[in-house]
Amino acid sequence: MTKNITELIRPAIRNIRPYSSARDEFDAENHSMIFLDANENPFQNGLNRYPDPGQRRLKERLAELRSLKEDQILMGNGSDEVLDLIVKLFCEPGKDAIMVLPPTYGMYEVIANVNVVDVERVPLDMKFQPDVEAILEAATEQVKIIFLCSPNNPSGNTMNADGIEKLLNGFNGIVVIDEAYIEFSRSESWLKKLKTYPNLIVTQTFSKAFGMAGIRLGMCYADEEIIRIMSGIKFPYNVNQATQEKALDVLGNMKIIESQVQTILGERDLLIDELSQISFITKVFPSDANFLLVRTDDADLRYSQLIENGIVVRNRNGLANCENCLRITIGTPKENTILIQTLKSLE
Ligand SMILES: *Cc1c(COP(=O)(O)O)cnc(C)c1O
Repeated sequence: MTKNITELIRPAIRNIRPYSSARDEFDAENHSMIFLDANENPFQNGLNRYPDPGQRRLKERLAELRSLKEDQILMGNGSDEVLDLIVKLFCEPGKDAIMVLPPTYGMYEVIANVNVVDVERVPLDMKFQPDVEAILEAATEQVKIIFLCSPNNPSGNTMNADGIEKLLNGFNGIVVIDEAYIEFSRSESWLKKLKTYPNLIVTQTFSKAFGMAGIRLGMCYADEEIIRIMSGIKFPYNVNQATQEKALDVLGNMKIIESQVQTILGERDLLIDELSQISFITKVFPSDANFLLVRTDDADLRYSQLIENGIVVRNRNGLANCENCLRITIGTPKENTILIQTLKSLE
């Protein structure tokens, strides 16, 4: 990492003047004021005011929880919005590229395509680990961002820390680590390394362990300068009032989440054991996430048989190194029992 971080940001965006919204200038939570500035309906119903565009209360709580500064956090409508903002910030349409390591989360490519940004692919090795040398070799000037997903979807494994460190040191661009499943992992989050590596961006989400996929809330943690400029290009009211309130409720009650995660981890161990005994399952891949990737004799067949029995899993056959693989989310204890019974009945 030799370049200055702001030099990596697209010139057109580096100097943009953000829209200053009414609720940027005055916070509607100050009840001593009369708000006649945003053309809202004045009659209170709990949602008649525009939400806080900076999600200050939420960031305050998250900063405390993660031992970070509020200026290192940006929130979006799911991590999908956050990932889109990252591509917009660093990649010039029709010129620049991102790098992905298949098999991985499909949204990185979709977001690149929508933004007219090229995609370089360097497949993960047979153990679903990054091939650091091949990545650095393929990382031309055009490549501005490398997307790492750790734990990786769909393989479920965490990526080796020394490999990631080599990429953070050796790549002259941004390294995004998507930690959507970090709460289920034995490995530590990379959040602690944000100060060491200004080119590191970590994303997390309320959609998985936090049990809040329905509210659409994702987080981006990065260098203050990146966050400042990214905050200027997001839509002002991208995180709605109901979402901000619900998220604060969840953060105020982390015990429930922690206990659910423990249950899921216990079920993961049980499922690994039982799935390994199913005759047509030839491999259960190690997992640091709330799902298991399994190799079967015939993924298309087993997938449709499960559907016929009322169970929906994800068919990952056709992805790199995922021949005949199904991705199975860990359900409730009852759901998992039914899954195993059903698989046994198909033997
Ligand atoms: C589920 C998932 C997300 C979450 O996306 P949201 O938009 O926050 O719901 C992000 N990254 C990966 C790899 C995922 O599997």
